[in-house]
Amino acid sequence: MAALIDGRAMARALGERTAQAVATLKADGVDPALAVVLVGHDPASEIYVRRKIGECRKAGIGSIEKRLAADCGEQALLDLIDTLNADPAVHGILVQLPLPAGIDAARVLDRISPAKDVDGFHPVNVGRLSTGSKGLVPCTPLGIMLLLDSVIEDYRGLNIVVIGKSNIVGKPVAMLLLEREATVTVTHIETRNLPDLARAADVIVAAAGAPHLVRGYWVKPGAVVIDVGITRMVDHDGASRIVGDCATHELDHAKAVTPVPGGVGPMTIACLLSNTVTAAQRSMS
Ligand code: NAD
Repeated sequence: MAALIDGRAMARALGERTAQAVATLKADGVDPALAVVLVGHDPASEIYVRRKIGECRKAGIGSIEKRLAADCGEQALLDLIDTLNADPAVHGILVQLPLPAGIDAARVLDRISPAKDVDGFHPVNVGRLSTGSKGLVPCTPLGIMLLLDSVIEDYRGLNIVVIGKSNIVGKPVAMLLLEREATVTVTHIETRNLPDLARAADVIVAAAGAPHLVRGYWVKPGAVVIDVGITRMVDHDGASRIVGDCATHELDHAKAVTPVPGGVGPMTIACLLSNTVTAAQRSMS
């Protein structure tokens, strides 16, 4: 049987380390705080924001919730970001995506100070990641690396196939893996012979959003499989469930796999909190 990499347990452990770092910061007179900006009332975004604020509270991180109406206009959002950028009591700024139509998300994310960009999406942080210098790293890729670190000691020369080339998962995780001297192949919807490429890999990171794309015969014995995909499916009886990108029930021959749910997902929020603490620590120097 493949070992299951327990993202919930690892996220709890990271949360404990974060809470300790928060206590140290507070003892030094810094109260770490995350500003969460929500524009409009997208139901999924409401859930994500509530969860992020709840997790902040558990770790002792202050949260500042800022809400704007869906029709607030781009300038009002940019003005709010300017205010948060200038506020020394705010260490991290997160603008919940997606933004309503008519607001240019790239312009909004570019406005966030790179030092407070806890999502790691600002071009300065993207550039730092691609040059291997110190910045803020996007949360899901950071979480994926921590999950992989629990089963891989040395990445040098490993063949790693990343499925998906998005700016929030595929590309940044590929950069992090390259920094560890792995040989990384980034694949996408137009990639030819994907099953063959996957079968040659020591590690597969699947971030396509395509339910059960990665089948058993795509995975060589002893490979490590990280399933990032989250797709909500509705069963015949109307019950909804979350499905990943990997047919995990066909992966007994793998060395280790992440479950969905309970793998990458919990690590993403835990890494958001640890990025907020990192930003607060760096604000002191
Ligand atoms: P995206 O839609 O921006 O990118 C998907 C990528 O996968 C694209 O590059 C596309 O070319 C590729 N792709 C799609 N179908 C494919 C196929 N059949 N074969 C090969 N490549 C294919 O998605 P994203 O934002 O990177 O998210 C990917 C998945 O990860 C989604 O299911 C998303 O919900 C999930 N996700 C999970 C977390 C988490 O915390 N667990 C965080 C972010 C994203």
